[in-house]
Amino acid sequence: MKDWNLIAKFEKEIEKQYGPESVLNPSSLWNEEKERLYLEQKQEQKQRKQEVYEYISDNIKIPKRIVERTEQNKKNKVCPKCNSYIYKLNDDINLLKNGCCYRCFLTKG
Ligand SMILES: [Zn+2]
Repeated sequence: MKDWNLIAKFEKEIEKQYGPESVLNPSSLWNEEKERLYLEQKQEQKQRKQEVYEYISDNIKIPKRIVERTEQNKKNKVCPKCNSYIYKLNDDINLLKNGCCYRCFLTKG
């Protein structure tokens, strides 16, 4: 059987020596961590709901932040077949998929 009075006495001594954090109940820390994770997840869900999509066709949509990231990279991209700059998202996707711009893809066959 545990001597709770003795434990409490120890805790008081530890608290005196090392500060109040040292005697925090581990479960209270766990709850704080859980709460923090919960809030993070909630924030993520909220951001996902607020995500703005750009439709590149009727059934393909891409988050706008990714479109914007692609826009930032577009200056560096050139179609290896016709040497034209990749400036449309359509071309960019086609470059990734087929290794050329959309126009080359359409005219190659
Ligand atoms: Zn091309």
